Amino acid sequence: MVSYSEILQQKAIDYQIELETEFNLECAVIPEIKYVHKRTDFNELGLSNSYYDEYLYVVENKSAITLTDKNLILIALKEDYVLAEEIGHFLHFKLANIRKSPAQTENLTYFNIYVEMLGYFSSKIIDPTRENKVYGEYKDFTKLSKPELIKEYSLIKNNFGDRVTFNNFFLYQQGYCLGDELFYHYISKQIPKKQIKNLYELNVENMNFKNLFNLMKYNLPQILNKL
Ligand SMILES: [Zn+2]
Repeated sequence: MVSYSEILQQKAIDYQIELETEFNLECAVIPEIKYVHKRTDFNELGLSNSYYDEYLYVVENKSAITLTDKNLILIALKEDYVLAEEIGHFLHFKLANIRKSPAQTENLTYFNIYVEMLGYFSSKIIDPTRENKVYGEYKDFTKLSKPELIKEYSLIKNNFGDRVTFNNFFLYQQGYCLGDELFYHYISKQIPKKQIKNLYELNVENMNFKNLFNLMKYNLPQILNKL
């Protein structure tokens, strides 16, 4: 019998080839996909103990994680767009040769927004029917005054519980919304393929991601043409 991980593995190959073909990208490796859930016996995954924390994180949060340096994706969700987003992250980290995230906290948040933008964008290329439901329904944090922001965030906490941190919500909201915008600009041909290729390959060293974010937020196609 074919395991669910094997089904996902085949999809991962298809998705990666689709993204590479669309944007003329070349990546020599394809990640291994491991489907995990609450009843998965870690010992049967064939992974060394050093993966245990990641495995626990993915299972407990019902999420997915891409371990680029290990060419591995752990995934606990069955939606195709989740796998597509992880493949987008994998391609991005491989092509840009990203080994570690920026250390400085503020730049790290904006770096992560960039990462989630590209991940979400990649998933839209694979599955254009994906909707930015969770994050798109709330008011844009960057457009709120401080009192409005406090009100909006307490609403979010009421709906999601304490596990959602302000920083985390902010970075996914901004990343996914930018990814959505990038997608619509791309399919309406306002952004050429070459520019998208540049985004995957962008050298992240010494990049001021907060500046880049502010520029992209207000003038996306123009900025991309200058990158
Ligand atoms: Zn992501």
